[in-house]
Amino acid sequence: MKILFTLDDLSEQEIHHILQEAETFKKGKTYDKLVGKKAANLFFEPSTRTHYSFVAAQQKFGMQVTNFNVEKSSIKKGESLYDTVKTFEMLGFDCLVIRHPQTNYFLELDNVSIPILSGGDGTGSHPTQSLLDLMTIKEEFKQFKGLKIAFIGDIMHSRVAHTNIKVMKRLGLECYVVDPFGLGAVEEKSIDIEEAIKEMDILMFLRIQFERHGYDLSVNPQTYHKEYGMTKERVQAMKDHAIIMHPAPYNRGVELSDYAVECEKSRIMKQMENGVYIRMAVLKEVFNHEPN
Ligand code: ASP
Repeated sequence: MKILFTLDDLSEQEIHHILQEAETFKKGKTYDKLVGKKAANLFFEPSTRTHYSFVAAQQKFGMQVTNFNVEKSSIKKGESLYDTVKTFEMLGFDCLVIRHPQTNYFLELDNVSIPILSGGDGTGSHPTQSLLDLMTIKEEFKQFKGLKIAFIGDIMHSRVAHTNIKVMKRLGLECYVVDPFGLGAVEEKSIDIEEAIKEMDILMFLRIQFERHGYDLSVNPQTYHKEYGMTKERVQAMKDHAIIMHPAPYNRGVELSDYAVECEKSRIMKQMENGVYIRMAVLKEVFNHEPN
């Protein structure tokens, strides 16, 4: 694996391998082959967890970390993504992590030879988020086949939902959607919110992606919370073993109540923690194809 743009680039076997690697890093395994390698993180969209868990993973490996400042770069003079990325290659960086608002931005980067890991492309994919979600689910249920998961929220604009639905179906999970906006972007089994709460093993809530709407959806936070949010009552109506997930950032009081964020059934903090180990595992993998 020299690139990671979408999970379509990985076989099921490779996905399982990355999850296993991440588990060994979580158990404390160390790896010193990347010490001193130069990583640059190019985030053209805001990010906290993805960006800084890549930084944390790079630091654990003893890599030299550079964080690209879009605002102070030649992007502001109109330089293209390709010319920016090619510059980083010529400057001697060994690998790049890129998040960009353009879906499929990586199609422009064919002529770049250094490893690139995507931190998310527009409404397309978010491969490392899905891997950390899978790791969190595996820790909980030990396997994937037959588990029922519902994605609740702004399905159409969520690269997390798109990536997860695709990969989770491959791995044998049953995927459902609760789409409050009825924008019908994915051909998935729809389910009513109250039924989802009672029936699912996993409830994955999604942020309303206002920045991608381009128009006013007129969402009233209180009404949304009442109709589709994870209230304390809904938490109490879940199956005993069922869990709550959210890729974050979450809107407290909209898709999740304060109670739901850190309640016993929430695995949201674990998702964040697992993000570091997944990013260690994918960094190791992209360099496995490079001469050490
Ligand atoms: N952090 C996730 C993403 O970058 C989810 C979100 O922003 O709502 O797609």
